[in-house]
Amino acid sequence: RDLFKQSDVEAALNAAYDNYKGLQEGKNADYIPALAKVDSKIYGIVLVTADGKVYTKGDVTTEVSIQSISKVFTMAKVIEESGADSIFNNQGVDATGQAFNSIVAIEQNKGAEMNAMVNPGAITATSMVKGETYDEIWGKISGFYNDFAGRQLTVLSDVYQSEAESNQRNQAIGRLMYAYGKIKSNPDRATDIYTRQCSVGVNAKDLAIMAGTLANGGKNPLTGKQVVKTENVPEILAVMATAGLYDDSGKWLYRTGLPAKSGVGGGIMAVSPGKFGIAVISPPLDSAGNSVRAQKAIADISNALGGNPLASK
Ligand code: GLN
Repeated sequence: RDLFKQSDVEAALNAAYDNYKGLQEGKNADYIPALAKVDSKIYGIVLVTADGKVYTKGDVTTEVSIQSISKVFTMAKVIEESGADSIFNNQGVDATGQAFNSIVAIEQNKGAEMNAMVNPGAITATSMVKGETYDEIWGKISGFYNDFAGRQLTVLSDVYQSEAESNQRNQAIGRLMYAYGKIKSNPDRATDIYTRQCSVGVNAKDLAIMAGTLANGGKNPLTGKQVVKTENVPEILAVMATAGLYDDSGKWLYRTGLPAKSGVGGGIMAVSPGKFGIAVISPPLDSAGNSVRAQKAIADISNALGGNPLASK
């Protein structure tokens, strides 16, 4: 028996797509110059059920850079390699109450309580992936992302170049986390690998399959590959729930109950454990850095399908 009735899912996707297609709020991120040039009209919705059904609406083929959504998968790699305590003990799992690239947040706690969904904790997580050389570490990170997506993803080199030329703030963050002893290897290398991981191109379908893998206990529902251990999924989802939409994570959780992660490229993915993964791409962002249409569409669709894991039946 299917988890969801096809007509219910299709109706929910169609309604959300139509309701927000004309919405003109928000604007593309522009602190990374290449992101300002991305077509603001890209709008795609994909839902992947835990039993492997794929539902699509709108533009599901155009790639945008994954940006901060990558933070989930690199953190997952560290948890797989070094255990859930590694993240907990090194950068902590609490919200910072500050923007994702806040330097004040680092200073407040001397590098502690820097969860892996904001830049200081994320660059630190990248530095924790085991490996001797840049290429070895990058190979592990990118291979892991490919397993989540079920296909070979590539770096959008224009986005990488653009961010590598303009990421002095992240370089400062990496060096501060080194100064506080959280990053234990070359911080500039960690920041560069982090910048590369943020530039990986994904379409809405890739992101939904990645979310669907987390919804399905770490097993890709399309390829059948166990990408992360089922026992590690709750900790991954917990950090997403706490800080996946930065300083608006509380508002998001209040409305949806869903662990989710946004990126400044315009994507958001969300996970309804045991039920579905969903992703929406639409580049215009609100002031917290979250896609306006993606938040609205995912909330409506999940609530229509009973996706809130905090709700009783
Ligand atoms: N690469 C971006 C940065 O470090 C990612 C930020 C984001 O998506 N919020 O600024």
